[in-house]
Amino acid sequence: MSSPFWSPALAQLEPYVPGEQPRAQRLIKLNTNENPYPPSPQALAALSDPALHRALRRYPDPESSELCSVIAAQHNVATNQVFVGNGSDEVLAHTFYSFFRRDQPLLFPDITYSFYPVYCQLYDIDFRTPALGADFSISVQDYAGEAAGVILPNPNAPTGRQLPLEDIEQLLRLQPERVVAVDEAYIDFGGDSAVCLVDRHPNLLVIRTLSKSHALAGLRLGYAVGQAHLIEGLQRTKNSFNSYPVDGVAQRVGAAAIADHRWLEENCAKVIATRDSVTEALTALDFEVVPSKANFVLARPGTMEAGQLYTELRRRGILVRHFNRARINQYLRISIGTDTEMAQLLEACREIIATHQNSTVR
Ligand code: PMP
Repeated sequence: MSSPFWSPALAQLEPYVPGEQPRAQRLIKLNTNENPYPPSPQALAALSDPALHRALRRYPDPESSELCSVIAAQHNVATNQVFVGNGSDEVLAHTFYSFFRRDQPLLFPDITYSFYPVYCQLYDIDFRTPALGADFSISVQDYAGEAAGVILPNPNAPTGRQLPLEDIEQLLRLQPERVVAVDEAYIDFGGDSAVCLVDRHPNLLVIRTLSKSHALAGLRLGYAVGQAHLIEGLQRTKNSFNSYPVDGVAQRVGAAAIADHRWLEENCAKVIATRDSVTEALTALDFEVVPSKANFVLARPGTMEAGQLYTELRRRGILVRHFNRARINQYLRISIGTDTEMAQLLEACREIIATHQNSTVR
C-alpha cells in the first residue's frame, strides 16, 4: 500500500521485518533467538511488588537512574557510563543518529543484523559492507580508511561467530576518530565482552540487551556502556525523541533481573550445553554448522535445499529462520530451545532428510 499523504522519504523506506511471532501456541519456536526458559524469579517477583503498582500512576524516572546504577555496578563502570533504552534496537537507532550521520560511509559486514541498513536509510547514512570470509570470519583490516564509524555484532548475527577482543582493539585503533559500536546482544553465551576496554578507548560503545540471555524479550530493555561523553550524546538524542522510553515496569524488573547474577550464569550454562550438543548432532546429520558463541546456530543441510527443509519443518510445527539472501540462503538459523525442543527438531530433521533421500534415489 502507499498513500499520497506519505512524505517521499517515508514512501521509500523499506522497514525491517522481524522474525514471525505466530499466534499458534503449539509451535516449537526457534526463529527469533528468544530464551526458552522463564526469566529470573527475582525479576518476576519485582513485577508483583506493591511499590511498583503504586508508582504506575506517575511518569517513570526519565533517566532510569537506579537501573543505570545496577547496570554500572554489574560492569564495574560509573553510572554516567550507562545509557538505557526501549530494547537495544532503540539504543542502536540513537547510536546511528548520534554518531554515524557524517560525510563518509558507515562500515558493517555484508552478512550481519539486517536492521543496520534500515537505520541507515531512516537517517540518510551512506554505508559500505566489507565481505565476510568464506568461513564467515571478519578481517579487521577491511575496516580501515575514511568512514563514519563501524558497527558490528559480536558474536555476529546470524553467523554466531565471535571476533576475539584483540581484533576489537585493533578496530578501535584503526578508527580512532570514529565510534566503533559493538552490539553484544549474544555475548553472554560464551563470548568475551568488550566492556573491559571502555575506559581505555573513548571511541568504544558496547550495546547490550536483556532480550536474549535474561529471557526478557517482552520487557523491551537494552543499554549501552561507553565513556561519559558518548553516553551524554545518546541522552541528547533520546531527549529530543522520547523522554520516557523505559517504562516504570521495565526499570524495576530489569534492575532485579540484572542483579540476579547466579540465575544468568546458570541459564547461559544450560543454553550453551544444549547448543554444543545440538552442534554435534547436526554435524552427525551431515549439516555444516558455523561455530557459534550465541544462542543459535547457522547450519547448512548437506543433502537438501535449506528452503525446502525450512518448509518441511514448518509443516511439522517447528519454526526456524531461513534468510533468502545471497551467501546464506542455503543455511537455516536455528535458535537454541530446551533439550526436549531440540530433540524434536533433530528427530524431524532426521525424518525429513531420510524421506528426501528416498525420494531422490527412486
Ligand atoms: N542486535 C542484534 C544483533 C539482534 O539480533 C537483535 C535481536 N533482533 C537486537 C540487536 C535487538 O534486540 P532487542 O531490541 O530485543 O534488544
